[in-house]
Amino acid sequence: MLKLNLHSLSNIIRPEILELNAYHVPPATGMIKLDAMENPYTLPQALQEDIERLTAHTPINRYPDPSATLLKATLRTALQIPDRMDIMLGNGSDEIIQIIAMAAARPGAVLMSVEPAFVMFRMIATFATMQYVGVPLRTDFSLDIDAMLDAIARHKPAVIFLAYPNNPTGNLFDKENIIKIIEAAPGLVVIDEAYHAFADASLMDKLAHHPNLLLMRTLSKLGLAGLRLGLLIGRTEWLSEFEKLRLPYNVSVLTQLVTEIVLQHMDILISQAEHIKAERARMLAQLTAMKSLAVFPSDANFILFRVDHATHLFEKLKQHGILIKNLDRSHPLLDNCLRVTVGTPDENTQFLATLETLLQNET
Ligand SMILES: *Cc1c(COP(=O)(O)O)cnc(C)c1O
Repeated sequence: MLKLNLHSLSNIIRPEILELNAYHVPPATGMIKLDAMENPYTLPQALQEDIERLTAHTPINRYPDPSATLLKATLRTALQIPDRMDIMLGNGSDEIIQIIAMAAARPGAVLMSVEPAFVMFRMIATFATMQYVGVPLRTDFSLDIDAMLDAIARHKPAVIFLAYPNNPTGNLFDKENIIKIIEAAPGLVVIDEAYHAFADASLMDKLAHHPNLLLMRTLSKLGLAGLRLGLLIGRTEWLSEFEKLRLPYNVSVLTQLVTEIVLQHMDILISQAEHIKAERARMLAQLTAMKSLAVFPSDANFILFRVDHATHLFEKLKQHGILIKNLDRSHPLLDNCLRVTVGTPDENTQFLATLETLLQNET
């Protein structure tokens, strides 16, 4: 019989899993929560009541529609997905990344991204036994296109993931450079547009021109993080292979129904995104005016900035009830960097005031 000790764990669990640190979500009860790129606004009362009424009669004793036909049709209209492109749904876009990695994990296959990037690209590569290669960005977080093209030639990645805008840096990469990468890649290029609602840019119109291009979206940053719905958009040839790995009922009855209702009111989500963009402009201006702080431009619903003693400042903000994200020491390019999600005007004002006070006390 197997005895439960470290030795028996390492006989069973893969070494690269034993080495991993679990994705850490800090407790946030009672805090001003500006750490996870959530939309801070709730839905209007009338719409909440619609949802209550319609979900009350949902047959939760039944499995969901495995192909979510109705929801896909609604998404196609709401997100203006080209007729010739197919859609696959995931339990969040994290699940889609995982499905792609599992499908592409031939022995020795490489999953490539940039550094710093969304940490799940690296983690999921490991889960799926793919080799991860991260190509450093330049110090201004733009693509190092020469390094990228070299790495593509050398490692022949099966899949390249690029977030557009990038997380945790917030910037949009140069579109011409992305096209160069797509054209040089021997495998798939997945453009992750999780922050599309806050950027006036997309590669959706490029799908038709590049057979190796796929596009990912999520409703999480748009206001439905709790429902867990991500989409992969691309050619049927690719998506029908990924569909084989998708667990049959990965999008719940409630997610399908509530998303369906909310998307009938896409204008509400878009107007909330517009408020967030206006607040982003205000925060960028105020942060830029603060001394002893460097702000990076953002096309997303968060802002990256660099200060002296970032970890100390992060802890101080936490003591004042404000939770943001500490990126110090997560990557050499992110030394002394913190990331704040754009919240409600009140939350942002409190954050800015507290930050300013703390910075003044430092000097
Ligand atoms: C937040 C985020 C996701 C994950 O979104 P879910 O749909 O909630 O799983 C994917 N990609 C990037 C770049 C993100 O920042």
